[in-house]
Amino acid sequence: MLKLATETMYRLVDFAVAKGLISPIDRPYCLNRLLEVMQLSAPEKIDYQPEEIPETATRYLDTLAECACKLGIIGQSGENKDLFRTKVMGVLTPSPAEVRSEFGKRYADAPEKATEWFYQMCRDSDYIKVDRIAKNQRFFEESPCGKLEITINLSKPEKDPRDIAAQRAMPQTGYPKCMLCVENPGYAGRIGFPARQNHRMIPLTLGGGNWYMQYSPYLYYNEHCIVLNENHVPMRICHDTFVRLFDFVEQFPHYFLGSNADLPIVGGSILNHDHFQGGNYRFPMDEAADKIVLNCPVEGVKASVIDWPMTCIRLRGENREALITAADQLLEAWRGYSDPERSIFAETRGQKHNTITPILRKENGQWTLNLVLRNNLTTLEHPLGVFHPHEDLHHIKKENIGLIEVMGLFILPGRLVSEFEGLTKYLTGQRSIDEIPRDPSPLRQHYSWVVQIAKTTGTELTHEQALEAIHKALADKCARVLADCGVFKDEAGVLAFLNTLGYQKA
Ligand SMILES: [Zn+2]
Repeated sequence: MLKLATETMYRLVDFAVAKGLISPIDRPYCLNRLLEVMQLSAPEKIDYQPEEIPETATRYLDTLAECACKLGIIGQSGENKDLFRTKVMGVLTPSPAEVRSEFGKRYADAPEKATEWFYQMCRDSDYIKVDRIAKNQRFFEESPCGKLEITINLSKPEKDPRDIAAQRAMPQTGYPKCMLCVENPGYAGRIGFPARQNHRMIPLTLGGGNWYMQYSPYLYYNEHCIVLNENHVPMRICHDTFVRLFDFVEQFPHYFLGSNADLPIVGGSILNHDHFQGGNYRFPMDEAADKIVLNCPVEGVKASVIDWPMTCIRLRGENREALITAADQLLEAWRGYSDPERSIFAETRGQKHNTITPILRKENGQWTLNLVLRNNLTTLEHPLGVFHPHEDLHHIKKENIGLIEVMGLFILPGRLVSEFEGLTKYLTGQRSIDEIPRDPSPLRQHYSWVVQIAKTTGTELTHEQALEAIHKALADKCARVLADCGVFKDEAGVLAFLNTLGYQKA
């Protein structure tokens, strides 16, 4: 055990040197820090043979966490091991000051070089858990609204009951205030809150205020980054939001940046800390063509409603001030707009319902600002939201439709993999299509859906064909999710709104 721990520490130090996380001269220093974490007073005497440097440190970290369990340093649960792995990696991660300085040097050369280096560092330091994320199922599937991207999230491990119990017993510290706060980098974590010794952020100035860029540890798409306010203040879509979007994309023209809406139901999972999400990626929505070309009342702005199930107004142009003016006008008008015939109410019982999900990118010297109209009204018929996936879709998706899904990338829960596996049996004839799954079978919620699928495919498919048919039907459901979230289902409705601002169909 001690020999294995020693060997693995040597390998990890080799890895950190090879990846440029530490300087070769700091080998003995880093080894000593690792000995401290492993609670060892000296390395064992071993015949050490270096090996080829792997892509990620995962294997070494797993081994050291296993050793720590056996040596009684940590408890057996998955969360204890995760906290420990991060503590180990924290020893080998460059300090925040070093990261800022390196990023700055490369940025002076080109913004792409700075982000490329920082992204790779976050992967090498295991802050982005590359191997775990690789377990996610990802596929593209044709749907009534074009090709959609679907990720079934298998990287989140099941909660260990021992961790749930331990978390309950812990005093609530309220520190850090949330998972996005600037207090996170360097934090040791605890059961129920992730360790962040290997987490680093880059300070930025947006709209004259202090913001930070970090990568998302979940990495739902290439170079998925988060840009967060220095202060723990709630999400708010306003004039300043648009200014910050432009300031960011001006500094990182190879990245898009967008914001979740600022109201429950139509916002993301974190509403209490103002933040954006961005990255180096194109989404299905970016491929959507113009459906209604408009004359924009603001000079220098090209406008259209795009061919997408959610109501999205696309503004294009080279003049950022003109685009911000047009966005301000649209936001203000939409905040106050009602269309009772279409169940759109700006306000009920003192609660405001209208907001916008804005997304900005720059292409070929031209800005593209997508403004997606949102409304979070609930009714007795639709208690989770009128413009939210309706009840018949909840077996697939019940959660908020945030920025990423708005753009056509669906993040679905890991449970679906085994449930779909169960459903294939109906389509291959292994299980009679008349056999209704009994409670508490998780297949029960999908039963009427699989019967529907079987009507077109029959029940004599191969396993592979069955899974394909389910994925195809899944994409149809995802398109329906977007359609339910769309505030205007028809051209006349959106034109009536835009006409109030002086937009005319071109
Ligand atoms: Zn916060």
